[in-house]
Order: sequence, then C-alpha cells, then structure tokens
Amino acid sequence: MMKFFRAKTWALLHDPPHKMWALYGTLKLTAGGHREDAVKVWEELGLREALGDPADSEEIVHAADDMASTSDRWITNFAFANVLRVFEYNKLHNIFDPKHQIDIRPLRRGELEDFLRDLAGELKPFASDPRRVYHALYALYEVEWAARKLPPSLADTRAPTHTLFDHVYATALTLNLLWPDGKVGGYAVMVDIPGIQQVVGAARKAGDFWGGSWMISTVTWLTLWPFVWEFGADVLLKPSPRYNPYYHATLWAQLGGDHRLWSRFGELYSSLLPRPVRGMFEPQHAVRQPVIPGTACLVLPKVRPDGRELGRQQLEREVKERFEKACELLLALASGDQVSEEPYAAFFKLLSEKEGAQKPSARAVVKLFKIIKDAEPRAFEGLLRARIVVLEVGQLYGEWLKVVKGEAGETASDLLKDLARARGELAEMLKAGEEKKEMIAERLALWALFALLYSELSLRAERVLVAPKAWFVLKDRTLEPVAEFERFYDSGGGVGYITCTTCGSEPAILRLSKKVVEPGTLDYSERARKLLKEPPFQLTDEEIDELKIGVKPGEALGPLCLTKRALYASLKNRLELGFESTEDVAFSLVAPELGGLAARLAELGGEGVAVKRFLESEVKSFDETLDQSAEKARAIYERAFRELMERSPEARDAVRRAAKTLSSKLSRIYQVEGFEVPEDFATSFRSYYCILRADADNVRRLAQGEIPVDSYLELLDQLRAEAERRGEVSVAEAFGKAGEIVGTLLKALKGAVPSPTYSLALSTALMVTALKGTALVEGELGGIPVFSGGDDDLALLPAEAGLAAVDRLRALYHGEGGFHRVGDCAVPAPVVYGKSFSLRFASILDLMADEVAECARLLEEVAKEAKWARGGGTLEKDALVLSESRGGGVALLPLGGGRESLKALEAMWIARLCGFLSANLPEDYERVRDAVEAAAKAGKEELAAELFRRALERNVRPDKLKERTVELLLELARELERSGAVEAPEPYGKPGDRSALTVLSRLVEAYRVARGYP
Ligand SMILES: [Zn+2]
Repeated sequence: MMKFFRAKTWALLHDPPHKMWALYGTLKLTAGGHREDAVKVWEELGLREALGDPADSEEIVHAADDMASTSDRWITNFAFANVLRVFEYNKLHNIFDPKHQIDIRPLRRGELEDFLRDLAGELKPFASDPRRVYHALYALYEVEWAARKLPPSLADTRAPTHTLFDHVYATALTLNLLWPDGKVGGYAVMVDIPGIQQVVGAARKAGDFWGGSWMISTVTWLTLWPFVWEFGADVLLKPSPRYNPYYHATLWAQLGGDHRLWSRFGELYSSLLPRPVRGMFEPQHAVRQPVIPGTACLVLPKVRPDGRELGRQQLEREVKERFEKACELLLALASGDQVSEEPYAAFFKLLSEKEGAQKPSARAVVKLFKIIKDAEPRAFEGLLRARIVVLEVGQLYGEWLKVVKGEAGETASDLLKDLARARGELAEMLKAGEEKKEMIAERLALWALFALLYSELSLRAERVLVAPKAWFVLKDRTLEPVAEFERFYDSGGGVGYITCTTCGSEPAILRLSKKVVEPGTLDYSERARKLLKEPPFQLTDEEIDELKIGVKPGEALGPLCLTKRALYASLKNRLELGFESTEDVAFSLVAPELGGLAARLAELGGEGVAVKRFLESEVKSFDETLDQSAEKARAIYERAFRELMERSPEARDAVRRAAKTLSSKLSRIYQVEGFEVPEDFATSFRSYYCILRADADNVRRLAQGEIPVDSYLELLDQLRAEAERRGEVSVAEAFGKAGEIVGTLLKALKGAVPSPTYSLALSTALMVTALKGTALVEGELGGIPVFSGGDDDLALLPAEAGLAAVDRLRALYHGEGGFHRVGDCAVPAPVVYGKSFSLRFASILDLMADEVAECARLLEEVAKEAKWARGGGTLEKDALVLSESRGGGVALLPLGGGRESLKALEAMWIARLCGFLSANLPEDYERVRDAVEAAAKAGKEELAAELFRRALERNVRPDKLKERTVELLLELARELERSGAVEAPEPYGKPGDRSALTVLSRLVEAYRVARGYP
C-alpha cells in the first residue's frame, strides 16, 4: 500500500508547485534544477518520513507524466530539440480557446515557504497512514494554494494552456492506467442512472424536487466514495475531484473531523456555494446542493493498493453492489437511521442530527416513512436503477492503436478516424521512418485515450437496457404484487391499488384521504385519522396535525415519492433547507420585506390575521391559509394590505420602504441602476414563479475536442513573434516548427486532442460552474437550484428574478474573461459553445411536474433547434425560449454574441415594472411589424431598427423619456441594428414550419410573454 500511495504522491509532486520560477531561476529551493526542488518539497512536507524515498516511484511517474503531458510535449520536444534556453512566459491561456488569457504574477519566496510550512503542518496528523496522508495532500494541495491567493505556475511555458495543478492532477489520474508495471491497462467504469428527469420531475412541491435531485446526487456519490477512499480521489474522471464539495466534506469526516483541515475547505466553499442562513459554513453545508451528476466515470488500476489483483468481472460485480448499497443507505437517511459501517460512517456523521433538533412536522413524516418501509421493504427495493459499464483499457487501447496505425479496417468512431488521418498526414509531413510512424501513432492514441474511453463508455451505456422497477412478479402464472400496497390505505384496501398522486406512475403505498372542514381548510378524513392513530403508526393527534405539512390530506404516495418526502423532512433542519412549496419560491423575494408588517396585519383581524399567518408560515400554502380558490386568496391578500395602508400612515411608510428595498434588491440582481418599483409591487399577490431549465450546447463535441483550432495556431504564432521580439531566434524558429506540426494535426483532427488534462479541465470547469450557479440561484436570486451539473441546470425562481437568472447563468458558463477565478487560481471555462435556456412562468395552481416537463420539451424542441442568421453567418442553438403556463405565449431570443437581445428584453421588462413602458407595446407594434420585417429582408436593417425604436418611444410615458432605465433601453435598442433574424420551429400549432423573424420582432414577442409577471 505504501508503494501505491508513494507513487501517487510523487505524481502530484514530481514537478514542484513553483516550477516555472524554478526554471527561470528566480525562485529556487536548491542549487539544482526543478527536479531537485521537487525532492526538496517532498522533504519539506514531511513525506520522507511518511512515505519514504520518491526515487522508487520515478520510473512509473515518469511514464504517467509523459502520458498526461498534454498538449504537445513530444511536439515541443521535437520542435525544441536543439533549444536549450528556457522560454520565459507569464500568461495562462484558456485550453478550450487560447485567445482568452490572464497574466500570472511572480511568486514570492516567502509565499512559497509559508505555503510549504503550513501545508506540512496540516498533513502531519495523517503521516502515519499512507492513504490518509495522500488524501489530505490531494485535497489540500490546490485548495491551500488558492486560499492564499498564490499565482499558479504554468506546467510548461512552451505550451501555456495549462497550469501545474492541471498537469499534476492529470498525472495522478493517468497513473491508474499504468500501475503497477507501466503498461497501459486497468479499467474505465461508468455508472449512469437513466431516466433522471422522471425521478426528479415527479413533484408536487418544491421540496420534492430537492428530494429527487439530491437522491440522484447522493446515490452516485455513495457509489463512488468506497473507490475514491480505497484508491485515491484521482480515480474520478467525472465528476471532477477538484473543487468537489462532496469529496472534501466526506473526506474531512473520514479523516476524523480535523479542525484545521475544515477551515481551508470551509473558506473555499463559503466563497463558491450559497452561505447558510445562520452562522458559519459547516461541513454538512457542502453536501446540501445536488451537484454530483447521475453519470459518473472512474478510472481504476488493475491491482488494488494492497497488491491484490482486480479482475474485470469482479470489479463489475463490486460496482453493482456498491450501487445497491448506496440505494439502501439512502433509505436509511430518509428513516433518520445512523450507519456505522465503513467507509460510509463518515458521510452519515456529516448529516447526523442532534437529538430533538428536528421540527415536529419533519419528525412525523420520517416516523411514518420508517414504519412503512420496514413493513413493506420490497416496495422500496430498486427504486433507482443504474447502467454499469466496465471497460478493460489495455485491450481497447491495443485495438484502437491498430486503427490509428492504419492496420485495422473499419471503425465507427469519428475520433479514431481523425486520429488515423492525423497520423498519416503527420508522418508525411515529418517524412517519418517506420519507427517514428509507430511513435506518432502511440502518442496520438495515448493522447486521446480518455476521450476515447469516455465515448466508448457512453456508447455502451446507451445499449444497456434497464428495466423499470417491477411492481409485480409472475408467480404460478399469476401476477403478484411485490408488496402489500393497500396495507396503508385508509380505505382498507381490497379494491386494488391506486396510483401515486404525485408522479402518476407508481402504485401508492400510503393513502390518506381528505375532508373539507370549512371552505379553505382541509383535514384528513376520519378514516385517515383512525389509520394513523392505530398500530403500527400510533401517532398522537398532535403528530397527525403536524403530518399535514409533509403529506397533504388527499394525497396517495408511492414508494419513490414517499422516500423523497422523507428525505427532505429528515434533512431539512440539518441542511437548513428552505422552500418547500411553490408559494415559498414565488414569495421568496417579497416576503422578507413584508415581515415587519405582520403584527399590524393581525390588528386588522379576520383576513389580516390570515395574511399574517400566510406570510409567516414555515411552508406557505395559499389554499390552507387564505382560501382554496387562488382568485379569492389573491383578493383577501391584497385587500388586507390596502386596508392596512388606508388605516395607518406608518404602515404606508413601511410598504414604501419595502418597495424601496425591493427596488435595490432588483437593481443588484439585474445589475442595473434606476429601479423604482411602485408600492403595489411590494404588496401584490404572487401567483407565478419561474422554472428554469438549461443545457450547455454541444457538450459531447466539447468532450471530443471539437473546438475551433485557429486560436491555437494564433497562440503559437503569437509566441513565435514574442520570441522574435526578444531576439531569441532559436526559440522563435522552434515555435514556427511547432506551429506547422500542430497546424497539420489540428486540421486533420478538426479540433484539439482531448488529452487527459483537457478532459479533467472540462469536468473541473463544469464543477466550478455548478457550484457558482447554485450560489447565484439560491444566494442571490432567492430560488432553489434543483439540479446543477455545470452543463445542465434546473431551478425554481421567484418570477421577478427569472430573466436575471438566464442572463447571469449564461454569463457564468463562460466565466470572467474566459476563466473561473477561485482565489488567484484560474479554471478555464469552456467558452467555445453556448448554453441554451428555457424559462417558464408557471402558475402556483398548475401541476408542477407537467410544467417542468413542458419547460424541458421547449428547451429541446425550440431553443436547441434555433438558427440565427446574422451578418452573413449562421449561429445555432444558444437561445432562450420563454413561455408561460397560462396564456400559452412562447417566444425565442438568441443569447449568443453579447446577449444583447436578452439585455434589451430585461430593459423593457424593467421599464414596464417601473411603470414607464406600456404593456400594450406588442399590440401597437403590430402596426409596423410587417414594415420592420420587409425592411430587414431588403437589407435595410437600419430602417428596421429605426421603426422598432420609434415603436418603443411611442410606448414610453412621455414624462419618463429621461429616466435612466428608459435611456438605457433606447441605448440598447440602438445596438440591435445588426442583430439579424432568428429561425425557429413554430413551437405551437404549425409543426415543421420554420419561420424566420427579425430579432426585433422576436423581442416584442418575448415582451408579450414577460410583461404580465410577476
Ligand atoms: Zn410517485
């Protein structure tokens, strides 16, 4: 075991963290080269005592280093063969699109020494155990560096597209495939939970969403964790082990809850994740957001750390067992049980609750769940299914290598075909002999190995059929239910099962019917109360009343939906989960501002008391607190506020203040000044909320390295020019030569080689995007991040924050200047493709599950099918589809470029909210619409824009033309001159009819949808 973790540790440290400055000679720890400095770092960190001499691992780490060394080490080595001098270069370029770059400041000696000293101190408690010390180093190395805001070193100044951390983490990952003999082997594993949308989408309450999504995230994580702990986190290809809050929090608990260790992680995540409402950012808060996607990839060596062989079949069986186990553990979590089994105890410790800390309502749901699950365990088995694929890497590598060499015939893989072509063209260009041809083929195959593996895993996973859970089994030629479903029906059963009222697909395992006590108040029926009072439940009257918050009278719940409810209830307090109902989301921005008026509302008596109760309820529900009819509920609510303001001047002032605070809140959210909402904006009833669904465009192409290649060539040319300028002739020549080779290569490949560093950079970028996205949605916009995987998102938001959410999540995907900043470390953002969005204004009355499904459908069928003709070129996808659940409006806007059209829509919406822009603009615009379209078609885009602008002006209140928000709007409208036209499939009515419409007219359509909200 020592040998295994020594090699992995050396993989992380074989280049010292200050490598580039060691090469320049400006910051060195020894008199030798950077290798000697690396050994010195090993010693400074106390690793000689913990792990022995790194020289033992030199050979295999060298091989891994070579394989992970992305871009072009062999190209650079070849091109730079006769160049001895070190090329000094202090910029980091984005690996997906090198035209984005940032400066790297020099590292100071004191900074490095402090870093090493403190890191050594943090590692010390774990020094006696190779696995523990490796994990601690792996987790802390980059985090500690980022926390100190130190500049990351380049791994190779001749290929400035990756940092030292990118490189050494990729080296550790690669080592798995070479361990223990240096030959390519080991396994690639995929765990994929299909049908996630169905699992997550079946929801009646916002809390159900969280439950479903967290369930997927946690099952995936608990399946991976035993492998992560045994082999090291470097086995994770997806999700990224870097900036992974689930890894860091679980590891922290596994390592015994060390205080110093947490302080670093806490610091990191309190800047990346939403902060808890009360107090400090604690370890459990790191696992609150579902950010682990339902598709995960592992890379494992063929021999275990303790030296035992690991066979393919055995591994496959093990992954399956781990998945089953993870599902069981989830049921334990939902039942509030503790688990002390290794290596899961740590995760449970994170989530364990102090006795009695839970709210009574949550306790009642958990108690009910546990009793039902224990009574009918088979109903709860296999609720989630996984496709598991295990590949033998050595065998596949051999086959692929043949293809790249041109020795094998056909292949279905485009990437392999491209690699074979690249080999041919490179060999020709370099006039390579047999030996070199061989070398080129090997290099190319190794280089793209992770991308090839990922694509093979996805392909095979798609072919695995996963049967949904069987609720019935064939027994003696009759179908027998797997459980006694009707046992907990208050009807007593006997007439067959009914389906779950939440998802409509599984058989219900619990049914509690309702009765109407008085209009507006629901209760369980007498029969339901009787069922709950008798064994096995034996709930008290009080408990039964509390239960109503978790399981509404009239609901019938199936095993999956009940598990989600129980998970939410069980973890609500510990994880400080907020919103549970759609009303909670709809009111999330206004309710806190109105809190001060609660007491005064109560003084009104009657309806005032009801409104106070509504605003203050832990889970808002208009039909329980105000009235079952939404119309009446709205009337009661708004009447109470009107009455209050008429009666009391102080209350009126308070409402004014609330409107002011809301204005500044919205100013911040929309990053626009001049918001001034009227009083009734603060006091109007919120019947709508937003569903946001997003999906990054072309993720698969991105994973395969399909990115524009020009900027790579420009980079090499830029470096050549730089060397020339400095008079470094031999270096300039070498860059010229490298440019030729890379040019041939990239052209043949139609993109970059998705090297291990590239693959890991992509998953890391997605992880950081996911974290920052949840922080934005929950922390700033008052919404619920239901799911956030970096590439795809699902969120619920208050209606007033919907457009801002699209704008800012889209911006977030591309980072700031092409990078995500974490401290002074920079994670490159995948800037080459866009991200498409669907935003739906849904009524709190509508069935949420259906609305979410419709929102997702529009994303796929409208936004993803959009084509945008602009300035002679065509852009695809990267669009927003806007829709509403009532009124049926659908509109489409392009997001590419600088999101100008979305910005213009926001400005229109803001002007409307402030009362400056008429809601009738769309009707008025009808009069000029044909003229606008005709002008644009005739190439007179300026005229079209002028007509549009005049229509806008006509609809602004004449005395408000000088308002900032209006000026901003008109300014933005001017920028739309060359905005072109968008083609989209007609979302409703006319299937297949693709109509092109100018962005100007699309904008008015979008305004038509958005004008009525919130
Ligand atoms: Zn269900």
